[in-house]
Formats: sequence, C-alpha cells, structure tokens
Amino acid sequence: MSELINVEKIFGENVFTLGTMRQRLPKKVYFEVKRVMDQGGELSLATADLVAKAMKDWAVEKGATHYTHWFQPLTGITAEKHDSFVTNPDEEGKMLMEFSGKELIKGEPDASSFPSGGLRATFEARGYTAWDITSPAFIKEASTGPILCIPTAFCSYTGEALDKKTPLLRSMEAVSEQALRIVRLFGNTEATKVVASVGPEQEYFLVDQKKALLRDDLIFTGRTLFGAPAPKGQEMEDHYFGVIRERIGAYMHDLNEELWKLGVTAKTQHNEVAPAQHELAPIYDTANIAVDHNQLVMETMKRVAGKHGLRCLLHEKPFAGVNGSGKHNNWSITTDNGVNLLDPGKTPNDNIQFLLVLACMMKAVDTHADLLRQSASDVGNDHRLGANEAPPAIISMFLGEQLEDVVKQLVETGAATSLIEGGVLETGVSTLPDLVKDATDRNRTSPFAFTGNKFEFRMVGSADSVASPNTTLNAIVAEAFCEAADRLEKAEDFDVAVHDLIKEYMTKHQRIVFNGNGYSDEWVVEAEKRGLPNIKSMVAAVETLTTEKSVKLFERFGIFTKAELESRAEVLYETYSKTINIEALTMMEMATKQIIPAVVSYTKGLADTVIAVEAAGVDSSVQKGLLTEVSALLKEMQSAVVTLKDVEAKASAMEEGKAQAEYYRDVVKVAMEALRKPADALEMIVDKKAWPIPTYGELIFEV
Ligand code: ADP
Ligand code: MG
Repeated sequence: MSELINVEKIFGENVFTLGTMRQRLPKKVYFEVKRVMDQGGELSLATADLVAKAMKDWAVEKGATHYTHWFQPLTGITAEKHDSFVTNPDEEGKMLMEFSGKELIKGEPDASSFPSGGLRATFEARGYTAWDITSPAFIKEASTGPILCIPTAFCSYTGEALDKKTPLLRSMEAVSEQALRIVRLFGNTEATKVVASVGPEQEYFLVDQKKALLRDDLIFTGRTLFGAPAPKGQEMEDHYFGVIRERIGAYMHDLNEELWKLGVTAKTQHNEVAPAQHELAPIYDTANIAVDHNQLVMETMKRVAGKHGLRCLLHEKPFAGVNGSGKHNNWSITTDNGVNLLDPGKTPNDNIQFLLVLACMMKAVDTHADLLRQSASDVGNDHRLGANEAPPAIISMFLGEQLEDVVKQLVETGAATSLIEGGVLETGVSTLPDLVKDATDRNRTSPFAFTGNKFEFRMVGSADSVASPNTTLNAIVAEAFCEAADRLEKAEDFDVAVHDLIKEYMTKHQRIVFNGNGYSDEWVVEAEKRGLPNIKSMVAAVETLTTEKSVKLFERFGIFTKAELESRAEVLYETYSKTINIEALTMMEMATKQIIPAVVSYTKGLADTVIAVEAAGVDSSVQKGLLTEVSALLKEMQSAVVTLKDVEAKASAMEEGKAQAEYYRDVVKVAMEALRKPADALEMIVDKKAWPIPTYGELIFEV
C-alpha cells in the first residue's frame, strides 16, 4: 500500500499563494499586489521589495537556497538559471540571505543560446525576464534542494518576445477586451474582464527505465526508430480504462502528491488506449496558469518516473502501430462576474448572446483554420495528425445534433423555433435509475468539438507546450468579437442587427461545421469540396504564420509583430530539421553499431550450421533458406544505411530554412523509413537472443 496523503494539508504547500501573501504582507502591500494581479499595471519598487522579502523568507523557511526566473523559451520546454540568496558577508564574516524587489521583477539571463530565429544576433545577447505576477511563484523540490521559481516572460533587449508566455499574455488581454465589448452589448456592465480558461488532458507512456536506456532511439529522440510490432497491440481494447497495474499506480500516487504540493489540481487519471499509455487531467484554470502548470506536469512526470525506475515518454508517437499521445486542450471564456460565454443554457435557440458567440467562433475557426492547424503542429505530431487515430489534419468544428440543428434553422429561416431535446435514457433495469440524456452525443473524431460549455481542441501534441494553441485561439476569437462589436455598437436597431449578423456569420461559415466521422476518407474529399485547408505536415503549416491575413490579425491585437512571426517561422524550420537530423543520425548509429553487427554474427551461426548439417549428410534447405532471407534483408539494410548517410550529409550541408526542412521531410524521412523496413523484418525472423535491443513487447507489455 502506498503511504496515505493528507491532500487538504499538502495542496499548494509549495506555492506562494494569495493566502500566504495575505498572512505575510502588510495589508496595504497585499492589496496593491492584488490590484496589479487583477487589473494590470506595475508594482512600485518599494512594494516589490516587500514582496520579495516575504517571498524569500517563506522560501528559506522551506529550505530554499536559490531562486530562479522560470521561463518558457521557444524550445517548448522551460528554462531556469539558479541564483542563491547569498550576499557578501560583513566584516565579521556573517552573511545574510537577501532577495530584492528588483531581482524579483527583472532578470537578465544571457539570451544568446536560446532559439530566436534571427531576432537577436548572438553578439546582442541581452534578454530580459519579467515577473508574471498573475502566475504564482512556487518551490520546486529537486536534487538541488528546494528552488524558488518565479514564473516570468522572456524578451529581447529590443522588447521582442523570445518566449511562449509573452504572446499568450498579450492574447489573453486581447480576447478579454473584445469579449467585454460583446457582453456590454447585452447589458452586462459589471464584468471588468473576461478570462480564458484552459484544461489540458495530458497523455503519456511509461516504460521501464533500464530497458529504455538500452535503446539509443529512446535516449536521443524520445521515440522508437526501429521496432517490429508485438504479437499483441491495442486490438483487444483492454487497456483503456483498465485496472491500473501496481507499479504504475504507485507512480501515479507519487505524481499526484508532487503536483498537489505545487498547487496543480491533478484530478483524473486512467489507462489510455495503447498498452503502457496513460492520461492525467487537472481541473481547468486561467490560461497562463494552465500553461505553466502543464509544463510542471510534464516535468514532474519525467522526474517522478526516474524515482520509480520508469521512463516517461511524452513524444507524440513513441511506438509505431499503436496509438500516439496528444493533449486535449479544453478552452472557454468567462467574465469575472461568472458568465461562461460558451454556456448555451437550457434553450440555446433563444439565447442570443450565446448564438452570437457561437457565430463568432464559427467565423474565427473557419477564417483561421490554417493558423489553428499550425498552432498544434510539432515534429512528433506529424506522425499523428491525419494518420487515422488522432484528429485529421483538417480543421472542422463539431457542434452536436442540437446546436447543428439550431444553426441550420437560423441559416435557413432566420429563426430557431424548435430545439432537439435530450430526453431520458431508459436503462431497462428497474433497480437502475433512468438517466437524463445530454442533447448531444460525443464525437471523438473531431479536432475541435463543442462539449457542453467549452471547446475541446484535440489536435495538440502531447510533448508540446499548450501556449501556442491558446494564443492562437484567443487571437482569432478576439478578432471575430472585435468585428462583430464594431458593427453592433453602431447599429440603430440592435435586435435586428444582431439577428442579421448571426445569420450572416453562420451562413458564411457553416462549411466549418462537421458532425460526421473525421477519420473517414469521404471526409477528406468532402472537406476539399468545401474548400477547407488540409495541411499535411508541420513544415507545410509554418508559412501560415506569415501570410498577410496572419500578420494583420496578430499585429492588430498587439500579440506578435511581423518580425516576431517571421522569427518564429524560422525557429520552426530549424527545429524540424534538427530533430529529423538527430533521428537520422541515431538510426545510422543503431543500424551500423548494433543491428547490422548482431545480424552478421547471426548469419555466421547460420552458415556454420548449414556446413555442419550438410557434412552430416542431412537436408539443410531450411537453414539455407533462412540464411538467404536474412542475408538479403541485411543487404537491403546496408544499402539503406548508405543512402541515408548520403542524404543526411546533403541535408545538413544546406542552408537553414524552408528548403532544408522540406528536404528533411521529403527525402531524409523517406530514407529513414527505407532503413526501418528491412530492420523490422529482420527482427521478426532473427533469434530473439541475438536481437541487440529490447523489443516492443518487452517495452510496452513488461512494465
Ligand atoms: P474527457 O471526458 O473529455 O476526457 P476529462 O474530464 O478528462 O474529459 O477532461 C476535461 C478537461 O476539461 C478537464 O481538465 C476539465 O477541468 C476541463 N474543463 C471542464 N470545464 C471547462 C471549461 N468550462 N473550460 C475549460 N476547461 C474545462
Ligand atoms: Mg480525458
């Protein structure tokens, strides 16, 4: 049995919460902090000094010796540089730990080694981190000892964003401002801001650490580059929601404890579809906090795995032939007086504010389907999107039967007079209660699904930060709200104007709504007829960032400048090329140093056997046949290695950018597949004892 945890006691114990601040700060200071948190603005330096001191005292009491400005560069993971609270000792050699307001508010890490896409030449290394007062500081417990982490944004000397948090915060302000205009139109004068909320469901794999460390591909790339399928995959559908094995259960128990201490509301845990695959979902939170927390979730998952002799794989496709991992991004927007703009109420057909919001959502998603697709792409996700398991690469919107019918009525007649009701689900057993049915079934195949009072964006990759998808969502919705408000604020007859606008938007953007099977081939054809974009790869999605439409959108709301967008595009091309390059080199290394030598020895054994068997005057056709088959595959492998070596050299000699990334995608990846094929075929016939690396069966079933 795992140790008992007192969840109420430990929850948030490593977070510098508002409650802790209220206890430790003078009232006036506390209220100033709270005001800046809620309404924006800047803390005075005197206040910052007091907050820093309280924060340091609290952290030191918890054993912290260092602090760090914790930030999210374009690597997709987090960065930290630790500074101790140590100061110069006095004459007598006594030292007092200190932390000033200035150190709290601003940091200056050397920015030269973070990806910036040409925004900042290496000789202009200055970068600044700035405290994000809206996301609480926390203490991370690692082997370094407890570290006080201060969530920060990261910008260049000239003010350009070099991170994922800055644009996210900018987009949250944009959507808040524009959404306020919408609710004001409906007489809501109380709300002062509208908050974007996010609940990301995180999928992950756990494998045995010792076995993982026997595979260079898992070490260097986080996924398997070789591997024949195990006799069993996920076809029995017995893993999904199955009983959690003891070793995994102990891991989840520890993981929850660590997350709760960090104030992360770990809520749901279960086995996922693929063997060795699991999921954790927290309760949703304000977008920037949810993004920070998701980074902590991913990091903590990896760290706790080590303690259990496990390795956590967050890659989108660690194993061929079984499902990969994603991250469902649940998103909604709510006023600070508690109105969820995506809540349809009981009668959505006459909830005009909801219908306007829905019309704007349809317009936003249809207009910027390409940008949404881009925001969910990363190198690993190319293995999922459109590959018959995850959502297709085509963006469409699932509304469910009830809302789709409302939209249809509005488009056809200008009024939605009837409503498909949920009704009662009869269980047919007298001792079981009859259940009240939702008006809408679920649709797992839709990339962007309305699920009651939120949208679930299902395309995001498991290893990716959720910052970009949410920045994009906030931005495109802000634009649609802004354009609607521009018209409606000027309208002479509001009721008529809003009615006309809803009808117009829904009619124009109805093509984005699709309730059918998103995995089917018919949908691909149908989507093309509708003119919806089908962007097949991460590389192909990059240029959506710098189209006129995109630049106009992001500049209008101050979320990205054109230069920032161009720099991000460059970073994406580079990231893609570098990632595939590492994969190609790893494959060559494994092929030439492990697999080929193992098979060569195996053929020697076979050849010896053939000679011995023949000398004994017995039929050797089986041994000979095997030797011939193995030798032929070996030859194919060797020539595939030569080809891969050749194209990899060509690729890495190219200038960084789009053409190089395309070459990696179209040529290098193809050469990698050509190498994998004979290797996997060999694995199926070569003696198990001779195979140099752990197999799929050993990795995903023997955890
Ligand atoms: P599913 O059945 O889709 O797997 P889960 O319970 O695993 O659902 O996850 C749903 C996620 O959506 C949770 O993180 C939950 O907190 C979040 N969520 C629920 N309501 C909202 C909302 N209004 N806005 C944003 N996220 C929400
Ligand atoms: Mg779930």
